[in-house]
Amino acid sequence: MVKAIVGVNWGDEGKGKITDTLAQGADIVVRFQGGANAGHTIKNKYGKFALHTCPSGVFYDSVTNIIGTGVALNIPVLVNEVNQIIEKGVPKPHILVSDRAQIVMPYHILFDVLEEERLGGKSFGSTKSGIAPFYSDKYAKNGIQVSELFDEPYLKSKIENICSLKNPILTGLYHKDELKADEVFKTCMEYREMIEPYLADTATFLWNSLKENKTVLLEGQLGTMKDTDHGIYPMVTSSSTLAGFGTVGAGVPPYEIKEIIAVSKAYSSAVGAGAFVSEILDLQEAEELRKRGGDGGEYGATTGRPRRVGWYDCVASRYGCMLQGATEVAFTVLDVLGYLDQIPVCTAYEIDGELTRDFPVTRKLERAKPHFEILPGWKCDIRGIKEYDKLPENAKKYIEFIEREIGFPIKMIGNGPAREDVIYK
Ligand code: GDP
Repeated sequence: MVKAIVGVNWGDEGKGKITDTLAQGADIVVRFQGGANAGHTIKNKYGKFALHTCPSGVFYDSVTNIIGTGVALNIPVLVNEVNQIIEKGVPKPHILVSDRAQIVMPYHILFDVLEEERLGGKSFGSTKSGIAPFYSDKYAKNGIQVSELFDEPYLKSKIENICSLKNPILTGLYHKDELKADEVFKTCMEYREMIEPYLADTATFLWNSLKENKTVLLEGQLGTMKDTDHGIYPMVTSSSTLAGFGTVGAGVPPYEIKEIIAVSKAYSSAVGAGAFVSEILDLQEAEELRKRGGDGGEYGATTGRPRRVGWYDCVASRYGCMLQGATEVAFTVLDVLGYLDQIPVCTAYEIDGELTRDFPVTRKLERAKPHFEILPGWKCDIRGIKEYDKLPENAKKYIEFIEREIGFPIKMIGNGPAREDVIYK
């Protein structure tokens, strides 16, 4: 059976830790979308890791980790990450890469950088990992599939065509040097050598494994708000962050997904530009939460950028769970809120003078103002607590209030960054 672990909000909800925790009982962990543009932070007995490309099952010898077809595959990043993990004493992980995955090329990163520069103050706040140019090429059928690295004549003619398309833009729009087909080809040959040991027909591997009753985790990147179709377009990522897409990006039958664990943090955080209704606008108040947030502060795992922080947003989260098809919610990083006397929770938006609990389209979202209800804080450290009943009354009230507001059952609660810091409700 397949379980999906996906983000409800803007990403950085703590999916990595939940996947790492659940990977203990799994046989296979699959990344199905996105690229090296976001990171999961995982803390375990080997140390603290920021994974950008490796699935979170790499710390378990018994787990096969798959990079699915839907991923934007950055080959040097993957290989470096694997080497770093091994250097820190983790046994060599079992990794398979789909032979149908497509490659993030250095020119994708270049175009990402140049476009953000061109947009200046109107930029998307991209992580400049080449993700948007990569997916644009993929769907325009100009991408390079890893399997194509092994057919040199075919690859050469494809690269010629790519150069014909890209060079007029590089010189005319961005005033940069042209791409050289022979250099692009040389890079491809280097990538071929690096990736060859990992390649497999992962869809068939997954099909056979499911027939043998293996447990598969689909590990999402980012969250609903960043989904290309259902998120805060255009301030979204360029791939689908939804569990539904997991079946496509991994290549498993939709009916095999039995559990969808939607991960949502006990407060909000977001990186990059875009509407963020429940954002804490008071700079000092925001800095206090940012400093205490996550594990070592709310700063991007990939970029180190300070994240924007806000109060819990029930409007966004109800919508986020709905689109994910959540069968349960993992409510993370609750411990961080222990310093607050009172905790605001956003339960509705006011748009053009009217209150709504439905998450609006982006043009309206830009005008939304938060409607807060104030809950009492619990004023103590809840780390180390193992049972739900042992949580302070006000912490339970906070969880149960949010559970009612979003309408999805909270079954796991994160009260610390480590693997064992999970309370089952
Ligand atoms: P992901 O991309 O969804 O995996 O999220 P990130 O790894 O970027 O951000 C989550 C941060 O919160 C990381 O620094 C985690 O170590 C940390 N974290 C996860 N769960 C908890 C928790 O329950 N409590 C605390 N204090 N930190 C947590």
